[in-house]
Amino acid sequence: MLNAKRFAPLPTVALGDCRQQRPTSRRCECGGCGKTFLATAIIDAMPAFDDRAGGYTILRHLHCDFCNHVEVWTEGVDLDGRPSGVPLGPRGRLTGTLVEKFLARYPEAAGVEMC
Ligand SMILES: [Zn+2]
Repeated sequence: MLNAKRFAPLPTVALGDCRQQRPTSRRCECGGCGKTFLATAIIDAMPAFDDRAGGYTILRHLHCDFCNHVEVWTEGVDLDGRPSGVPLGPRGRLTGTLVEKFLARYPEAAGVEMC
C-alpha cells in the first residue's frame, strides 16, 4: 500500500551531484540527462522467468521529471528476487501519452521517497 506522505514532489528536491554510470541496487541515473535517483524511484514489475536470459528477470521503470520520459529496462534478479543492477540490453523510453498513463497508474513515480 502506497503511503503518499513518504513522497515529496520532485520540484522540492534539489538535483543531486552524485552520478552513477548504470543502475545499481541503491541508485539509478537517467540515461538522457544524467540525473541521479534513489532506487526507490524505480517501479518494478514482478520477476518472471525469461527463456532467452535463462533465468528470472525483472522489468524496471524510471520516470525522469527533467526529460519527462519513462526509461524501461530489464535486469536479472538474484535468488531473493532483487535486481542485479546490470541492465540486460539497451533501455527503452516511453514518451508523450504513455508517460501520462504510467504516472496515472504509478503516482509514486512522480516523487522521491523521504529518508
Ligand atoms: Zn532525464
